[in-house]
Amino acid sequence: MYRHTVQTMAIMLVSGVAMSAAQRGEQRTAQPPDPIISLVSRLDLERYKATIKGLTQFGDRREGTDRNRAAIDWIEAQLKSDGCVNTERITYDFQPRPAQPRAPGAPLPLATGVVGPQTETASGGGRPRGIRVGTGVNIDPMKQPDEKLRALNMQPSTPGTRQEVYCTKVGTGHPDEMYIVAAHMDGHGWGEAANDDGSGTALVMELARVFSSPDVQTDRSIRFALWNNEETGLNGSAAYVAQRKDLQGKEDPSGSGRYPEPRWLGLIQHDMMLFDHGAPSPDGTMRKQQRPEADVNVEFQLNSKLAAESQALAWALERANEQYATTYPATVGSHMTNTDSSSFMDLVPSISVRENQRGNEIGSGWDPQWHQPTDVYTTYNDDDFRLGLNAAQTTLGAVAQLTGASIR
Ligand SMILES: [Zn+2]
Repeated sequence: MYRHTVQTMAIMLVSGVAMSAAQRGEQRTAQPPDPIISLVSRLDLERYKATIKGLTQFGDRREGTDRNRAAIDWIEAQLKSDGCVNTERITYDFQPRPAQPRAPGAPLPLATGVVGPQTETASGGGRPRGIRVGTGVNIDPMKQPDEKLRALNMQPSTPGTRQEVYCTKVGTGHPDEMYIVAAHMDGHGWGEAANDDGSGTALVMELARVFSSPDVQTDRSIRFALWNNEETGLNGSAAYVAQRKDLQGKEDPSGSGRYPEPRWLGLIQHDMMLFDHGAPSPDGTMRKQQRPEADVNVEFQLNSKLAAESQALAWALERANEQYATTYPATVGSHMTNTDSSSFMDLVPSISVRENQRGNEIGSGWDPQWHQPTDVYTTYNDDDFRLGLNAAQTTLGAVAQLTGASIR
């Protein structure tokens, strides 16, 4: 597409002076339509919602439980039936660290409605402003009023073997290079992890479906990864990096044209895509509806080795949002933190995509469902789900451009 546009422009520059307006009009209409518009149109709100709803049947999908393992099986079956047939799993061991007692003199969580200090640095390096309310992880089953859901979430996590699944679209021109499009599939807090991170997982699954369509071809490869153990400290993505970083770009078996781990070109993580209702009000409450100026927040980490390259990747998403997203704009920030892209950021250009900035905003209580029993499917309405769909349009558009996607 890019090459074609450049050639067309070159032709017009050389011969444009002599052409009549009618001829130039002809030239324009002769251009093939942008195939990415057609790819993006294959996403739709009802499908995205149905995939989130499908994930919520496994409750909070807490790592190390039967419901987490059942969710991985379900995700893998969905990926295969949507055409992303090259599914694989990695296996790793997870032993939780014993809980640390709170250090004497450590700050207590902020009470509801408290105006936080203005100069404190947020997680990831940002500067929080305005009204802040407390955040935390619910560990009390009785705070879940839905008895059926409470029972579903009852089995505790057991230390030991873990798995996570990914599938790969193999590039036709450069099968040895790939972008990784990812989200974490585990959750906690005694809800359904509908937003955190059913919304990101569903986005990745929907992109896997669109790119795996038999009529879609990409020059480079794309891997769709659903990390486990994010909520315990990014353990699943860290295990992937440890096991596979040295396999990058190696043909195996030699001469086969197969690359089990294509060289990493970029990592795009998706986490909590639905809820941007703005900052808390002075009394600590939140507005009931998605704010009209809601946006998709694309973050890179200023203090990472590849900050410049990661920033460039973030702007690629911002531009793709301008071209392809229907409703909500994208905003770039420099304080990516607390998600699986952190496991990759010193090795490959890495960004995260979210409903809000993680450090300044979510950390200041902008998402009252975060790790709470209220993070269930029925909490959200179409304006919320549409923010996630717009994030999907954004990443799909950018990845289609970056991997040279076309429709046969
Ligand atoms: Zn999350």
